[in-house]
Amino acid sequence: MKKVTKAATLVLAITMMVCTLTACGGSKDGGTLTFGTNAEFPPFEFVASSGSIGQYDGIDMAIAKQIAEENDMTPAIENMEFESLLVALQNGQIDAVIAGMTVTDERKESADFSIPYYTATQVMIVKEDSDITVATDMADKRICVIQGYTGEICVGDMGYPYESFKKGTDAIMELVNDKCDVVVIDSATAQKYIKDNEGLKIVEDSSAFESEEYAIAVKKGNTELLDKINNVIEKMLSDGTVSELSAKYIETATAE
Ligand code: GLN
Repeated sequence: MKKVTKAATLVLAITMMVCTLTACGGSKDGGTLTFGTNAEFPPFEFVASSGSIGQYDGIDMAIAKQIAEENDMTPAIENMEFESLLVALQNGQIDAVIAGMTVTDERKESADFSIPYYTATQVMIVKEDSDITVATDMADKRICVIQGYTGEICVGDMGYPYESFKKGTDAIMELVNDKCDVVVIDSATAQKYIKDNEGLKIVEDSSAFESEEYAIAVKKGNTELLDKINNVIEKMLSDGTVSELSAKYIETATAE
């Protein structure tokens, strides 16, 4: 009897040790941290056969995973339309938004943002033989944007008419099929699309498109979560992890 108890205690001790070391296969004590995203934005978020968080992969997904894990939580993803993300945050359906989301004054009215982790800009994707060289050349062209993206806001502010699409790939198809002349979209995503589709090039115009900063959004007033997120982002920025992830995913996302 004594022997059995001893053996049982040993088994229990080993199990506890293993659990501490491996966090028991991913179920963390701190609960689940649910991020909302729109997995249509490579290299930041896209659906893969096996990703950083389930089927979701990309720079943002790797960042989300590390934020959750360093706070002893299990990361989860809710994939939805880009325009639904801030509403889902307000409703409590998700805890945070990580979606290559640019911080804007308007968005700051409905959510609080973390410290920025990436700087981007809008660029123009055109056919290789296009005569567009600066943003004002778009004046008499057929412009495509993605609904709710900052590209739509920029083109709208310039006063040009445009057609908006739900997905980046749909806008690119219009361009490939000569149904539009230019797609305005974020720089890293544009790089991915021109690698995937022959005959396209990127035109930059830094005097027309300001630089943008991507950050993670939390519900207004959720400083507890914001602090947790900021601590990990700060660390990932200073130790070079964010740069490494960007290089890795821009490389792999464009090398296909
Ligand atoms: N950076 C752009 C924005 O915030 C696009 C983001 C995205 O599509 N995921 O609107």
